[in-house]
Amino acid sequence: MRTVDRKVWTGLILAVALSCLPSWAQQNQFALLGTLVTPTEVIENGVILVAGEKIEAIGKDVKVPAGTKVIDTGGFIYPGLIDLHDHLTWNFLPRWKPNREFANRYEWQAVPEYKIVLTTPEGKAFDEGLACDTEQYAEVKAIVGGATSVIGSLNQWNQKPDKQKCIEGLARNLDFYSGLYPANPDKPGNVEKLRNEVFPLELPEGEVTNINKALGDGTLTAFIVHLAEGKPTDAAANREFRMLKARGFVRPGVSIIHGVALHQLEFQQMHDTQVGLIWSPRSNIALYGDTTDVRAAKQAQLTMAIAPDWSPTGSDGMLQELKYAATWNAGQSPPVFTDAELVQMATINPAKLAKVNSMIGSLAPNYFADLLVVKSREKDAYRALLHANPSDVALVVIGGIPAYGDPELMEKLAPRAELETVHVCGVPKSLDFQSEKLLQGTNPKSWKQTTEDLNRSLNEWGETLAHLTECPN
Ligand SMILES: [Zn+2]
Repeated sequence: MRTVDRKVWTGLILAVALSCLPSWAQQNQFALLGTLVTPTEVIENGVILVAGEKIEAIGKDVKVPAGTKVIDTGGFIYPGLIDLHDHLTWNFLPRWKPNREFANRYEWQAVPEYKIVLTTPEGKAFDEGLACDTEQYAEVKAIVGGATSVIGSLNQWNQKPDKQKCIEGLARNLDFYSGLYPANPDKPGNVEKLRNEVFPLELPEGEVTNINKALGDGTLTAFIVHLAEGKPTDAAANREFRMLKARGFVRPGVSIIHGVALHQLEFQQMHDTQVGLIWSPRSNIALYGDTTDVRAAKQAQLTMAIAPDWSPTGSDGMLQELKYAATWNAGQSPPVFTDAELVQMATINPAKLAKVNSMIGSLAPNYFADLLVVKSREKDAYRALLHANPSDVALVVIGGIPAYGDPELMEKLAPRAELETVHVCGVPKSLDFQSEKLLQGTNPKSWKQTTEDLNRSLNEWGETLAHLTECPN
């Protein structure tokens, strides 16, 4: 844990308490003290003031109104991590270890074991009415890994309006219910400007035209697609880039997930057309034995993000994928990324690719208060995040609401919340599952009940509910 100069803090708190602004007292507001990682800047002994769902002020000399709860976290405070590549409804399933490498995504999707281990249990949980449970389990799992925004939600999977409610609450679902835009009564639940398509080459011609038109007129600002997923030498995967281009999708606003089979030639075209890249090394290496040539992508100056894909073959969450990437990076000669660059690939860069970088992904006034607090013995603020374990997550705040964290902090910040205990690597954490319960209406389930129902469904197939996270021994 970082040493904080208590005298400085006490003086600061007293000074700011005297400069009171009473009109604030009614709002949900609190101030956190710690090392702020904006993430382009590190501010030691900083203060972040949250008012309502937004950040009001950050810095060393913040005027905190009288009556504000002030909490010295003794940790590092980052923007909440942004996960632009996930398939949430699969993350309750245990890890799949196929024990072989595949040439591309079509190969593993065709093997019988994939169906037995993943698609059949997932489909059965849906048939049993547990679709929302899978979504909520995955959102909590994402939050445990430090994420405050995700994509790849339930709605993406089945497009059923009656299932939409349970996606609201907990993490922001950038492709369905981000909470970043004002509600539109004419298009309930559909105000998002980001679209996530797992396989854009299967879109019908009319939809291709619609998406291109929407990207042109600004009703859609971000289009995120899976592409070129396979071994770096796989010609079929590489060919997908030309197919994407033929559909008009090599254009600003588009980001490519994976791109393992892409090379300098394609990266240069991506740079020239401002197409982004989302890297998921763990899943790539598990399935294909290799990952994207991110060194060439960096040389082409692509904007790159990092994300876990899904927990069956990727990471349980963003923190875990960051650590995997940091370990991979340290083994490269010379390393491809600096520690600061890796942290930016989980915060400001995905915000840029999702075209929400004026609202989330940074710690700045008027940004949504999506915060991740990590306790660490590391001195370096970037290293502290890359080497954090999920049990080091002290607090996650989403839109100004403390969602999850150490019991002591959660009780101070959310004394009226119905907190439930979640054990993460043997460490008790408090979770506010309340927002989900309220949104589910008349028959609310608790977190405990959600996990029991999912586990029962899986038990019938000889499987058990996936862990929220793998833990170091
Ligand atoms: Zn994927």
